[in-house]
Amino acid sequence: MTMNIEDKLFLDRFKVDEESHLKIIDGEKCVKDCQGQPCLYLCPANVYRLEDGRISVNHEGCLECGSCRIACPHMNIEWRFPRGGYGISHKFG
Ligand code: SF4
Ligand code: SF4
Repeated sequence: MTMNIEDKLFLDRFKVDEESHLKIIDGEKCVKDCQGQPCLYLCPANVYRLEDGRISVNHEGCLECGSCRIACPHMNIEWRFPRGGYGISHKFG
């Protein structure tokens, strides 16, 4: 059976930590200096969103792929794995 990305994501399970493991260091930089705001487009889980002119971080769905950490042109994301026991677990993989 061929699985599409939605089917595969459905197999993932999250134990959400109330404390975010992702943090934008300087929100002003996002608004004033960041051309294209790539975090809004590259995150497969849509964690970063534009709300009221600012970037919000909805860490609950993070897949821990690390892409945002590498792609942010201003190194403006404080990135770490969730605390032990929290975060994503993959059912088959
Ligand atoms: S890519 Fe980095 S600097 Fe740009 S909007 Fe996102 S977090 Fe801010
Ligand atoms: S680590 Fe991956 S899934 Fe998590 S916020 Fe960054 S790009 Fe999105």
